[in-house]
Amino acid sequence: MPVSNKVHVQKDEVNAQRVMDRIEQLATFSSMEGMVTRAYLTDEHKAAHHQLGAWMEEAGLQTWQDEVGNQWGRLLSSNPTEGTVIIGSHSDTVVNAGKYDGTLGVIMAIEALSNLKLNNIELPFHVDVVAFADEEGTRFNTTLLGSCGVAGTWNPDWLDIKDASGISIGQAMKAFGLDINAIPEASRAGDKTKAYLEVHIEQGPVLESCGLPVGVVTGIAGAKRFIVDVSGMAGHAGTVPLELRNDALCAAAEMITTIEAYAKAQGIVATVGKCDIKGGAVNVIPGKVQFSIDIRSQNQELLENSCTQLLMRLQSIAQKRQVTAEAEKIYEASAVTCDSKLQSLWSSVTEDVTRKPVHLLPSGAGHDAMMMATIAPMSMLFLRCEKGISHNPLEDVLTEDVAVGLTCLEKMITAL
Ligand SMILES: [Zn+2]
Repeated sequence: MPVSNKVHVQKDEVNAQRVMDRIEQLATFSSMEGMVTRAYLTDEHKAAHHQLGAWMEEAGLQTWQDEVGNQWGRLLSSNPTEGTVIIGSHSDTVVNAGKYDGTLGVIMAIEALSNLKLNNIELPFHVDVVAFADEEGTRFNTTLLGSCGVAGTWNPDWLDIKDASGISIGQAMKAFGLDINAIPEASRAGDKTKAYLEVHIEQGPVLESCGLPVGVVTGIAGAKRFIVDVSGMAGHAGTVPLELRNDALCAAAEMITTIEAYAKAQGIVATVGKCDIKGGAVNVIPGKVQFSIDIRSQNQELLENSCTQLLMRLQSIAQKRQVTAEAEKIYEASAVTCDSKLQSLWSSVTEDVTRKPVHLLPSGAGHDAMMMATIAPMSMLFLRCEKGISHNPLEDVLTEDVAVGLTCLEKMITAL
Protein backbone atom coordinates (compact mmCIF):
# COMPACT_ATOMS: atom_id res chain seq x y z
CA MET A 1 0.00 0.00 0.00
CA PRO A 2 1.38 3.48 -0.78
CA VAL A 3 2.57 5.33 2.33
CA SER A 4 0.46 8.35 1.35
CA ASN A 5 -2.68 6.28 2.03
CA LYS A 6 -1.86 5.97 5.72
CA VAL A 7 -3.51 8.21 8.26
CA HIS A 8 -1.53 8.40 11.49
CA VAL A 9 -3.25 8.71 14.82
CA GLN A 10 -0.55 9.06 17.44
CA LYS A 11 -2.68 8.54 20.54
CA ASP A 12 -4.08 5.13 19.71
CA GLU A 13 -1.00 3.56 18.13
CA VAL A 14 0.10 1.75 21.28
CA ASN A 15 -3.44 0.47 21.79
CA ALA A 16 -3.65 -0.56 18.13
CA GLN A 17 -0.45 -2.60 18.51
CA ARG A 18 -2.03 -4.38 21.48
CA VAL A 19 -5.09 -5.15 19.33
CA MET A 20 -2.79 -6.63 16.65
CA ASP A 21 -0.89 -8.71 19.24
CA ARG A 22 -4.14 -10.05 20.70
CA ILE A 23 -5.44 -10.95 17.22
CA GLU A 24 -2.25 -13.02 16.72
CA GLN A 25 -2.80 -14.66 20.11
CA LEU A 26 -6.47 -15.46 19.41
CA ALA A 27 -5.48 -17.04 16.07
CA THR A 28 -3.67 -19.79 18.01
CA PHE A 29 -7.03 -21.13 19.27
CA SER A 30 -7.58 -23.36 16.26
CA SER A 31 -8.49 -26.96 15.49
CA MET A 32 -5.81 -27.12 12.78
CA GLU A 33 -2.07 -26.80 13.26
CA GLY A 34 -0.68 -23.80 11.38
CA MET A 35 -4.15 -22.65 10.24
CA VAL A 36 -7.00 -20.69 11.82
CA THR A 37 -10.17 -22.78 12.11
CA ARG A 38 -12.51 -22.13 15.01
CA ALA A 39 -16.05 -23.48 14.87
CA TYR A 40 -19.07 -23.22 17.17
CA LEU A 41 -19.21 -25.29 20.38
CA THR A 42 -15.69 -26.70 20.06
CA ASP A 43 -12.75 -26.74 22.50
CA GLU A 44 -11.23 -23.84 20.49
CA HIS A 45 -14.45 -21.81 20.88
CA LYS A 46 -14.31 -22.39 24.65
CA ALA A 47 -10.60 -21.50 24.94
CA ALA A 48 -10.90 -18.38 22.73
CA HIS A 49 -13.87 -17.09 24.72
CA HIS A 50 -12.04 -17.80 27.98
CA GLN A 51 -9.20 -15.61 26.68
CA LEU A 52 -11.59 -12.88 25.48
CA GLY A 53 -13.30 -12.97 28.89
CA ALA A 54 -9.91 -12.53 30.60
CA TRP A 55 -9.13 -9.48 28.41
CA MET A 56 -12.58 -8.07 29.15
CA GLU A 57 -11.95 -8.43 32.88
CA GLU A 58 -8.54 -6.84 32.50
CA ALA A 59 -10.33 -3.90 30.84
CA GLY A 60 -12.53 -3.58 33.94
CA LEU A 61 -15.66 -5.02 32.35
CA GLN A 62 -18.28 -7.21 34.01
CA THR A 63 -18.30 -10.55 32.09
CA TRP A 64 -20.66 -13.41 31.37
CA GLN A 65 -21.42 -16.13 28.82
CA ASP A 66 -24.99 -16.25 27.52
CA GLU A 67 -27.18 -19.31 26.90
CA VAL A 68 -26.08 -19.84 23.29
CA GLY A 69 -22.36 -19.51 24.06
CA ASN A 70 -21.70 -15.83 23.22
CA GLN A 71 -19.13 -14.04 25.42
CA TRP A 72 -20.11 -10.67 26.90
CA GLY A 73 -18.40 -7.84 28.78
CA ARG A 74 -20.08 -4.72 30.18
CA LEU A 75 -18.71 -1.26 30.88
CA LEU A 76 -21.06 -0.27 33.69
CA SER A 77 -22.56 3.18 33.90
CA SER A 78 -23.19 4.46 37.45
CA ASN A 79 -26.29 6.26 36.20
CA PRO A 80 -27.76 4.42 33.19
CA THR A 81 -30.63 6.68 32.17
CA GLU A 82 -30.55 5.50 28.52
CA GLY A 83 -30.71 2.09 26.81
CA THR A 84 -27.60 -0.07 26.54
CA VAL A 85 -25.19 0.23 23.60
CA ILE A 86 -24.01 -3.11 22.19
CA ILE A 87 -20.79 -3.39 20.19
CA GLY A 88 -19.89 -6.74 18.70
CA SER A 89 -18.69 -9.06 16.01
CA HIS A 90 -17.97 -12.78 15.78
CA SER A 91 -15.17 -14.96 17.14
CA ASP A 92 -15.75 -18.05 14.95
CA THR A 93 -14.02 -18.56 11.62
CA VAL A 94 -14.31 -20.42 8.34
CA VAL A 95 -11.92 -23.34 7.63
CA ASN A 96 -8.33 -22.11 7.07
CA ALA A 97 -9.43 -18.54 7.78
CA GLY A 98 -7.71 -15.20 8.10
CA LYS A 99 -7.10 -13.72 11.55
CA TYR A 100 -9.12 -10.51 11.29
CA ASP A 101 -12.62 -11.36 10.04
CA GLY A 102 -14.82 -10.97 13.14
CA THR A 103 -12.08 -11.01 15.80
CA LEU A 104 -10.91 -7.50 14.83
CA GLY A 105 -14.29 -6.03 15.77
CA VAL A 106 -14.42 -7.85 19.12
CA ILE A 107 -10.86 -7.04 20.20
CA MET A 108 -11.13 -3.39 19.06
CA ALA A 109 -14.33 -3.00 21.10
CA ILE A 110 -12.59 -4.37 24.23
CA GLU A 111 -9.68 -1.95 23.65
CA ALA A 112 -12.01 1.04 23.14
CA LEU A 113 -13.92 0.28 26.35
CA SER A 114 -10.67 -0.24 28.26
CA ASN A 115 -9.56 3.22 27.11
CA LEU A 116 -12.85 4.86 28.09
CA LYS A 117 -12.61 3.22 31.52
CA LEU A 118 -8.97 4.33 31.97
CA ASN A 119 -9.94 7.88 31.09
CA ASN A 120 -12.84 7.77 33.59
CA ILE A 121 -15.34 8.70 30.90
CA GLU A 122 -18.81 8.51 32.42
CA LEU A 123 -21.63 7.57 30.04
CA PRO A 124 -25.42 7.65 30.63
CA PHE A 125 -25.65 4.05 29.34
CA HIS A 126 -23.99 0.67 29.82
CA VAL A 127 -21.80 -0.43 26.90
CA ASP A 128 -21.75 -4.16 26.17
CA VAL A 129 -19.20 -5.88 23.98
CA VAL A 130 -20.20 -9.25 22.56
CA ALA A 131 -18.24 -11.98 20.81
CA PHE A 132 -20.83 -13.88 18.79
CA ALA A 133 -19.99 -17.58 18.85
CA ASP A 134 -21.30 -18.60 15.44
CA GLU A 135 -21.60 -16.31 12.45
CA GLU A 136 -19.96 -18.34 9.70
CA GLY A 137 -21.87 -21.61 10.13
CA THR A 138 -18.67 -23.63 9.63
CA ARG A 139 -19.73 -26.60 11.76
CA PHE A 140 -23.50 -26.83 11.29
CA ASN A 141 -24.03 -24.95 7.99
CA THR A 142 -26.39 -22.48 9.71
CA THR A 143 -25.22 -18.88 9.83
CA LEU A 144 -25.73 -16.18 12.48
CA LEU A 145 -26.64 -18.61 15.29
CA GLY A 146 -24.99 -16.42 17.97
CA SER A 147 -26.80 -13.22 17.00
CA CYS A 148 -30.09 -15.10 16.40
CA GLY A 149 -29.94 -16.13 20.08
CA VAL A 150 -29.49 -12.47 21.10
CA ALA A 151 -32.16 -11.19 18.69
CA GLY A 152 -34.62 -13.77 20.07
CA THR A 153 -35.06 -15.47 16.69
CA TRP A 154 -33.50 -18.82 17.67
CA ASN A 155 -35.55 -21.66 16.18
CA PRO A 156 -35.80 -24.73 18.51
CA ASP A 157 -35.74 -27.00 15.41
CA TRP A 158 -32.09 -26.03 14.94
CA LEU A 159 -31.18 -28.20 17.95
CA ASP A 160 -31.57 -31.27 15.69
CA ILE A 161 -29.21 -30.02 12.95
CA LYS A 162 -26.15 -32.29 12.82
CA ASP A 163 -22.49 -31.65 12.02
CA ALA A 164 -20.40 -33.88 9.71
CA SER A 165 -19.85 -36.40 12.55
CA GLY A 166 -23.58 -36.70 13.31
CA ILE A 167 -23.48 -34.61 16.50
CA SER A 168 -26.53 -32.35 16.80
CA ILE A 169 -26.45 -28.71 17.94
CA GLY A 170 -28.45 -29.76 21.01
CA GLN A 171 -25.90 -32.46 21.94
CA ALA A 172 -22.98 -30.12 21.27
CA MET A 173 -24.56 -27.39 23.44
CA LYS A 174 -24.97 -29.84 26.33
CA ALA A 175 -21.38 -31.05 25.97
CA PHE A 176 -20.27 -27.39 26.00
CA GLY A 177 -22.09 -26.90 29.31
CA LEU A 178 -25.08 -24.92 27.99
CA ASP A 179 -28.68 -25.50 29.11
CA ILE A 180 -30.85 -25.83 25.98
CA ASN A 181 -33.98 -25.06 28.01
CA ALA A 182 -32.52 -21.67 28.93
CA ILE A 183 -31.83 -20.52 25.31
CA PRO A 184 -34.67 -17.91 25.33
CA GLU A 185 -32.79 -16.14 28.19
CA ALA A 186 -30.04 -15.17 25.68
CA SER A 187 -32.55 -12.87 23.96
CA ARG A 188 -32.13 -9.11 24.34
CA ALA A 189 -35.21 -8.47 22.19
CA GLY A 190 -37.30 -6.92 24.96
CA ASP A 191 -34.47 -4.76 26.34
CA LYS A 192 -33.92 -1.08 25.69
CA THR A 193 -30.94 -1.11 23.30
CA LYS A 194 -29.82 2.34 22.20
CA ALA A 195 -27.60 1.17 19.32
CA TYR A 196 -25.71 -1.80 17.91
CA LEU A 197 -22.29 -0.98 16.42
CA GLU A 198 -19.98 -3.35 14.55
CA VAL A 199 -16.47 -2.73 13.24
CA HIS A 200 -15.42 -5.26 10.58
CA ILE A 201 -12.81 -5.64 7.84
CA GLU A 202 -14.28 -4.54 4.52
CA GLN A 203 -13.72 -7.91 2.78
CA GLY A 204 -13.52 -5.99 -0.49
CA PRO A 205 -11.03 -3.70 -2.28
CA VAL A 206 -13.02 -0.42 -2.33
CA LEU A 207 -11.44 1.42 0.64
CA GLU A 208 -7.94 0.46 -0.51
CA SER A 209 -8.68 1.83 -3.97
CA CYS A 210 -9.95 5.10 -2.40
CA GLY A 211 -6.88 5.35 -0.13
CA LEU A 212 -9.03 5.44 3.01
CA PRO A 213 -8.50 3.50 6.27
CA VAL A 214 -12.20 3.36 7.18
CA GLY A 215 -15.62 3.70 5.55
CA VAL A 216 -19.19 3.91 6.78
CA VAL A 217 -21.59 1.12 5.79
CA THR A 218 -24.94 2.10 4.28
CA GLY A 219 -26.60 -1.31 4.41
CA ILE A 220 -26.16 -5.05 4.06
CA ALA A 221 -27.20 -6.72 0.83
CA GLY A 222 -30.05 -9.22 0.78
CA ALA A 223 -29.18 -12.61 -0.69
CA LYS A 224 -30.87 -15.62 -2.21
CA ARG A 225 -29.23 -18.93 -3.05
CA PHE A 226 -30.47 -21.67 -5.34
CA ILE A 227 -29.37 -25.13 -6.42
CA VAL A 228 -30.24 -25.83 -10.07
CA ASP A 229 -30.45 -29.40 -11.40
CA VAL A 230 -30.17 -29.64 -15.19
CA SER A 231 -31.10 -33.01 -16.71
CA GLY A 232 -30.45 -33.93 -20.33
CA MET A 233 -29.44 -37.26 -21.84
CA ALA A 234 -26.07 -38.93 -21.34
CA GLY A 235 -24.65 -40.55 -24.45
CA HIS A 236 -21.56 -41.62 -26.37
CA ALA A 237 -19.21 -38.75 -27.19
CA GLY A 238 -18.37 -40.28 -30.54
CA THR A 239 -21.63 -41.62 -31.91
CA VAL A 240 -24.34 -39.02 -31.13
CA PRO A 241 -24.30 -36.06 -33.58
CA LEU A 242 -24.23 -32.61 -31.96
CA GLU A 243 -27.69 -31.63 -33.26
CA LEU A 244 -29.27 -34.72 -31.67
CA ARG A 245 -27.79 -34.21 -28.20
CA ASN A 246 -29.42 -32.99 -24.97
CA ASP A 247 -26.14 -31.92 -23.36
CA ALA A 248 -26.85 -30.82 -19.78
CA LEU A 249 -23.47 -29.09 -19.41
CA CYS A 250 -23.84 -27.00 -22.59
CA ALA A 251 -27.28 -25.93 -21.32
CA ALA A 252 -25.82 -25.12 -17.88
CA ALA A 253 -23.01 -23.14 -19.52
CA GLU A 254 -25.52 -21.00 -21.44
CA MET A 255 -27.50 -20.51 -18.22
CA ILE A 256 -24.37 -19.42 -16.32
CA THR A 257 -23.32 -16.81 -18.91
CA THR A 258 -26.94 -15.60 -19.01
CA ILE A 259 -26.86 -15.17 -15.21
CA GLU A 260 -23.67 -13.08 -15.47
CA ALA A 261 -25.02 -10.89 -18.30
CA TYR A 262 -28.36 -10.38 -16.56
CA ALA A 263 -26.72 -9.43 -13.24
CA LYS A 264 -24.47 -6.91 -15.02
CA ALA A 265 -27.45 -5.34 -16.79
CA GLN A 266 -29.41 -5.06 -13.52
CA GLY A 267 -26.52 -3.76 -11.40
CA ILE A 268 -26.68 -6.65 -8.95
CA VAL A 269 -24.15 -9.41 -8.17
CA ALA A 270 -24.69 -13.06 -9.04
CA THR A 271 -22.23 -15.91 -8.67
CA VAL A 272 -22.16 -19.55 -9.73
CA GLY A 273 -19.66 -20.91 -7.21
CA LYS A 274 -20.30 -24.63 -7.61
CA CYS A 275 -20.89 -26.73 -10.71
CA ASP A 276 -20.77 -30.54 -10.81
CA ILE A 277 -21.19 -32.93 -13.70
CA LYS A 278 -22.85 -36.03 -12.26
CA GLY A 279 -20.95 -39.12 -13.42
CA GLY A 280 -18.89 -37.05 -15.83
CA ALA A 281 -16.33 -38.80 -18.02
CA VAL A 282 -14.11 -37.72 -20.90
CA ASN A 283 -16.07 -39.72 -23.50
CA VAL A 284 -19.62 -39.20 -22.17
CA ILE A 285 -22.08 -36.41 -23.12
CA PRO A 286 -23.05 -34.84 -19.76
CA GLY A 287 -26.52 -36.01 -18.73
CA LYS A 288 -26.89 -34.35 -15.33
CA VAL A 289 -25.35 -31.12 -14.05
CA GLN A 290 -25.96 -29.34 -10.76
CA PHE A 291 -24.90 -25.73 -10.09
CA SER A 292 -25.44 -23.11 -7.42
CA ILE A 293 -26.54 -19.49 -7.77
CA ASP A 294 -25.90 -16.78 -5.17
CA ILE A 295 -27.67 -13.48 -5.96
CA ARG A 296 -27.34 -10.31 -3.87
CA SER A 297 -28.55 -6.73 -3.88
CA GLN A 298 -29.04 -3.93 -1.38
CA ASN A 299 -32.39 -3.29 -3.06
CA GLN A 300 -34.79 -5.99 -1.87
CA GLU A 301 -37.38 -5.33 -4.58
CA LEU A 302 -34.75 -5.54 -7.31
CA LEU A 303 -33.45 -8.77 -5.77
CA GLU A 304 -36.94 -10.34 -5.76
CA ASN A 305 -37.68 -9.29 -9.37
CA SER A 306 -34.25 -10.36 -10.60
CA CYS A 307 -34.65 -13.85 -9.14
CA THR A 308 -38.07 -14.32 -10.76
CA GLN A 309 -36.82 -13.04 -14.14
CA LEU A 310 -33.63 -15.09 -14.06
CA LEU A 311 -35.39 -18.36 -13.20
CA MET A 312 -37.76 -17.75 -16.14
CA ARG A 313 -34.79 -17.21 -18.46
CA LEU A 314 -33.20 -20.45 -17.28
CA GLN A 315 -36.45 -22.26 -18.10
CA SER A 316 -36.51 -20.91 -21.65
CA ILE A 317 -32.88 -21.99 -22.19
CA ALA A 318 -33.85 -25.47 -20.89
CA GLN A 319 -36.80 -25.62 -23.30
CA LYS A 320 -34.73 -24.51 -26.27
CA ARG A 321 -32.08 -27.14 -25.53
CA GLN A 322 -34.63 -29.84 -24.64
CA VAL A 323 -33.35 -30.44 -21.13
CA THR A 324 -35.11 -29.85 -17.82
CA ALA A 325 -33.99 -27.39 -15.13
CA GLU A 326 -35.26 -27.47 -11.54
CA ALA A 327 -34.26 -24.70 -9.16
CA GLU A 328 -34.53 -25.09 -5.40
CA LYS A 329 -34.12 -22.09 -3.08
CA ILE A 330 -31.77 -23.07 -0.25
CA TYR A 331 -31.21 -19.74 1.52
CA GLU A 332 -32.51 -16.20 1.72
CA ALA A 333 -31.81 -13.14 3.81
CA SER A 334 -33.45 -9.77 3.35
CA ALA A 335 -31.50 -6.58 2.66
CA VAL A 336 -30.98 -4.39 5.74
CA THR A 337 -30.37 -0.64 5.82
CA CYS A 338 -28.06 0.87 8.44
CA ASP A 339 -29.66 3.45 10.76
CA SER A 340 -29.40 6.86 9.06
CA LYS A 341 -28.69 8.86 12.25
CA LEU A 342 -25.89 6.49 13.24
CA GLN A 343 -24.50 6.63 9.67
CA SER A 344 -24.34 10.46 9.91
CA LEU A 345 -22.66 10.25 13.31
CA TRP A 346 -20.05 7.76 12.02
CA SER A 347 -19.53 10.03 9.00
CA SER A 348 -18.72 13.12 11.05
CA VAL A 349 -16.53 11.08 13.42
CA THR A 350 -14.50 9.52 10.58
CA GLU A 351 -14.13 12.85 8.75
CA ASP A 352 -12.90 14.40 11.98
CA VAL A 353 -10.33 11.63 12.56
CA THR A 354 -9.10 11.04 8.97
CA ARG A 355 -9.52 14.66 7.77
CA LYS A 356 -10.82 13.24 4.49
CA PRO A 357 -14.38 13.08 3.10
CA VAL A 358 -16.26 10.03 4.34
CA HIS A 359 -16.69 7.11 1.97
CA LEU A 360 -20.09 5.42 2.23
CA LEU A 361 -20.29 1.85 0.96
CA PRO A 362 -22.66 -1.12 1.09
CA SER A 363 -21.74 -4.52 2.48
CA GLY A 364 -22.05 -7.39 0.03
CA ALA A 365 -21.34 -9.88 2.82
CA GLY A 366 -23.75 -10.86 5.60
CA HIS A 367 -22.95 -9.89 9.21
CA ASP A 368 -24.34 -10.37 12.73
CA ALA A 369 -25.46 -6.73 12.36
CA MET A 370 -28.29 -7.96 10.08
CA MET A 371 -29.79 -9.90 12.97
CA MET A 372 -29.10 -7.16 15.52
CA ALA A 373 -30.94 -4.66 13.28
CA THR A 374 -34.16 -6.46 14.27
CA ILE A 375 -33.78 -5.31 17.91
CA ALA A 376 -31.80 -2.04 17.76
CA PRO A 377 -30.73 0.82 15.47
CA MET A 378 -27.71 -0.75 13.71
CA SER A 379 -24.61 0.62 12.03
CA MET A 380 -21.21 -0.63 10.87
CA LEU A 381 -17.75 0.78 10.25
CA PHE A 382 -15.52 -0.97 7.69
CA LEU A 383 -11.76 -1.08 8.03
CA ARG A 384 -9.55 -1.33 4.93
CA CYS A 385 -8.02 -4.79 4.39
CA GLU A 386 -5.15 -5.61 2.04
CA LYS A 387 -6.33 -6.19 -1.54
CA GLY A 388 -9.83 -6.85 -0.17
CA ILE A 389 -8.83 -10.43 0.63
CA SER A 390 -10.84 -12.29 3.30
CA HIS A 391 -11.76 -15.87 4.29
CA ASN A 392 -8.14 -16.60 3.45
CA PRO A 393 -4.89 -16.81 5.50
CA LEU A 394 -3.62 -13.84 3.43
CA GLU A 395 -6.16 -11.53 5.14
CA ASP A 396 -4.26 -8.48 6.48
CA VAL A 397 -4.81 -5.01 7.95
CA LEU A 398 -2.45 -2.13 8.82
CA THR A 399 -1.78 -1.29 12.48
CA GLU A 400 -2.14 2.39 11.48
CA ASP A 401 -5.66 1.69 10.23
CA VAL A 402 -6.54 -0.08 13.49
CA ALA A 403 -5.38 3.07 15.32
CA VAL A 404 -7.70 5.19 13.16
CA GLY A 405 -10.58 2.74 13.67
CA LEU A 406 -10.05 2.73 17.45
CA THR A 407 -10.12 6.52 17.67
CA CYS A 408 -13.28 6.57 15.54
CA LEU A 409 -14.94 3.92 17.72
CA GLU A 410 -14.11 5.73 20.97
CA LYS A 411 -15.36 9.05 19.57
CA MET A 412 -18.50 7.33 18.27
CA ILE A 413 -19.36 5.81 21.67
CA THR A 414 -18.97 9.15 23.46
CA ALA A 415 -20.96 10.94 20.71
CA LEU A 416 -24.01 8.66 21.07
ZN1 LIG B 1 -17.13 -11.65 9.51
